Parts: sequence; C-alpha cells; structure tokens
Amino acid sequence: MDKQQDFVLRTIEEQGVRFVRLWFTDVTGTLKSVAVAPAEIEGAFTEGIGFDGSAIEGFARVSEADMLVHPDPDTFQVLPWRGEIDATARMFCDIHTPDGHPSPTDPRHVLRRTLERAAGEGFTFFVHPEIEFYLLEHANYRDGIQPVDEAGYFDNVPGGTAHDFRRRAVRILEELGISVEFSHHEGGPGQNEIDLRYADALDMADNIMTFRTVIKEVAIEQGVHATFMPKPMWQHPGSGMHTHLSLFEGDENVFYDPSAEHQLSTTGRRFVAGLLRHAPEITAVTNQWVNSYKRLWGGDEAPSYVCWGHSNRSALVRIPRYKPSKSSSARVEYRAMDSAANPYLAFSLLLAAGLKGIEGEYELPAEALDDVWQMTPRERQVLGYTPLPTSLKEAITLMEDSELVAETLGEQVFSYFLANKREEWNGYRAQVTDYELEHSFRAL
Ligand code: GLN
Ligand code: MG
Ligand code: MG
Ligand code: MG
Repeated sequence: MDKQQDFVLRTIEEQGVRFVRLWFTDVTGTLKSVAVAPAEIEGAFTEGIGFDGSAIEGFARVSEADMLVHPDPDTFQVLPWRGEIDATARMFCDIHTPDGHPSPTDPRHVLRRTLERAAGEGFTFFVHPEIEFYLLEHANYRDGIQPVDEAGYFDNVPGGTAHDFRRRAVRILEELGISVEFSHHEGGPGQNEIDLRYADALDMADNIMTFRTVIKEVAIEQGVHATFMPKPMWQHPGSGMHTHLSLFEGDENVFYDPSAEHQLSTTGRRFVAGLLRHAPEITAVTNQWVNSYKRLWGGDEAPSYVCWGHSNRSALVRIPRYKPSKSSSARVEYRAMDSAANPYLAFSLLLAAGLKGIEGEYELPAEALDDVWQMTPRERQVLGYTPLPTSLKEAITLMEDSELVAETLGEQVFSYFLANKREEWNGYRAQVTDYELEHSFRAL
C-alpha cells in the first residue's frame, strides 16, 4: 500500500464514504462507472477488480474478455453532487489484462504511452480546453429544440438560467479540484462556454470526463438539458472545444522565445507545422461523429481550412496573444476539436502530430492574415490552405492511410475505431432525411 492509497482508505473511513465509483472511458469516449463497496477498495488497489471487457466498446473480443480495473489513487474525489448522507467518491482507473499488463485498448493507456514518449524527449505536455455546450429546455428533440434563452456572446442575462447554471457548475468543479478560468455565454441561444485552467494532458483528459458528468448532473438538478453535440441546430453555432497546447522542459515553456515572431520559438513553429500537416488524418478522432462535420462546415467560427494565424479566428491553429511577462503561457490553440471527442485519444494525436513536426523539423508555412472563408477556392489553393475533411467518411478514409494515427493509437484501437466509425457512417448514409423529403417528395 503506498501513501496515496493509504490516504484514500483513510478518507473513505473518515468521511463515511458508502460507495466508490470506479471510472474509465471506452474507445468512443463514453464514461463507464462501476460502484464498489469501500471494503473492496484495498483489493482493487492490490489486485484490481475484474469485469467483462467484451461488453465495453472497443475493449476486448469475447474470447479474451476478462479485464481488470486498477483505480488511480491520485484521482480520488468525493462527489459533491451526491448527498452527504451516503457520500459517494470516484477514482479514475487504468485497465489491465489478466496477465497484469496495461491494456492496449484503454484510451487512458494510449495517452500515458504517448506522454511517456514525449517525456523521453524531455517534454511535458500541457493543455487547456474551452468547452462549449448548449443548455436546452428539455431532452426531447422531437418536440423541437428549445434553448433556455435567446442571449448571445458574453451576454449577461439577468435572472437567466445560464447564469445560475454556470455558477453552480463552476462551484462543483472547483470542489472537485478542477480550476475554472473563464465562463460566459457563447454565441448561440442557450450556448455556454467554460474554460479550464491548464493541466498536464492526462489530468486534463480526466477533468474533461468529469466536466461532462458535472454539466449533465447540474442540468438535471436545474431541470434543463445539456448537450455537447457538435452541431445541435444547423442555423446556430456549433460547440467546439478549442484546446490550447504547450510543451515544457522542466519549468521552461519551450514554445516561448522573446526574440521570435509572435514570441513563438522554432520548436513551437515546428510543432504547429506538425499539427497542420497531420490535421486531416487525425480529424476522424478530434471530430469523431457524423454531426461533427456539420459544425466544421457550418461557419460561425469553426475552422474549415488548414492554416494558422495570430489573431485570425478563421485559422485552424491560432497563436494567441499573451502577456510577454508570462512566458509560461506561450501556447498554440487548436480550434477544430469538438466537445464530443474522446479527450485521451485526441490529445494523444495532437501531441504525436506536434512531436512529428519537431522531430522532422517541419517548416511552418506563411501565416494566414485574411479571413480564409472569404477567399475564393482558387485563392485558397494558391496559398495552400487545404480543406479539413468535409464528412466523417472522408475523415475515415484519410485516417485509414495514416501511419501516425496507427502508431499512436496502437493497432487494436486503430482498427476498432475505424470499424466503429464505418458503421456509424453506413447507418447515417442509409437514412432518408427531412431535407430530402422537403426538397424532393412533392417536387419529384
Ligand atoms: N463555437 C465556435 C466553434 O465551433 C467558436 C466560437 C468562439 O469561441 N468564438 O468553434
Ligand atoms: Mg473562448
Ligand atoms: Mg468559444
Ligand atoms: Mg478559442
């Protein structure tokens, strides 16, 4: 029993915790949870707790189904939204195979492995997401999607639902040790954004999974419905998860160079060049749903073309301004990702793409200064601004040929993910939509 494990056992005892939820994430990014009695936790630390891996998306074939969850004591938290009478806590888990190895199909392991590779080159990877989502009156979309308000970007809505919602959500997040930097109303009616303070990528992926749960729980508590769907309403902005990325060597931010243009170091430029070159092939993971492409190609500040800029919000990668006195906040913002990605897999690929740029000493193309959406296709072509995939189908096709993605996800996750997404695409393609009926049923 190490110190942290001891601490968990003591806290369970002292706070009268009755249930401990063991959390992990399947390949599609869905949070899984098994509640265990406190008496089981010591054994869970030493031996793990068995479960049927074949029942979890992407984990195991039926013939080799036994898997074990090993709780990570560093992630122990009492859940503030469960009553104090029967206190409930949670820990994130690593998944092991019965012979005691980390499971290659565990997304948390995929990220750990990628972070270790970066550590081998001396780097730690920090991220902070800006998470957008919609608050709606109810979950029943068949009755019409009804946002909780008609407000817009940065609006203060006196007496509005969104305001109370954000205050409650932020308080719970802080109680869970997740620091929030900003929260505000976003551009769409009922749309909100909450930005988390930067953390290393593994903690942040855990935080994002917790965040989604907290938002859903607070919505239920307040009688509204929260959705992270990338584009719930075609006529309103989608929900993105712009993610700010930085690399550190010890205490030093290696993206920072006071004498360079935009204070972005050569390492930083190569990292961005890596993001740009590999963006199309990783998009199936950063934007993993059929619906994700309705956001990417629906305007409203979602990026559609591969280019970078300084304060250009039409670019895929933006180099934000920051106070020169705060060299530690030098970072680059990747704007394609949406709020419904699997953060473990997506962060792995962003890091791998950036590292590839550093290792391969990729050259950063010229900065995009103009609004890329306003250009003609010819102008974009001349400047080399290639489009991101326009559909999940295109994204899958690009991913299939990607060595970078296969290598980073590992063979099993790679092939499972592709099979799963082909199935989603085929299901979608088979639909006869309202759009077709409206345009053709009478006319043809
Ligand atoms: N909602 C936009 C997107 O989908 C972002 C808008 C913003 O943050 N200014 O990416
Ligand atoms: Mg923002
Ligand atoms: Mg935003
Ligand atoms: Mg942003």
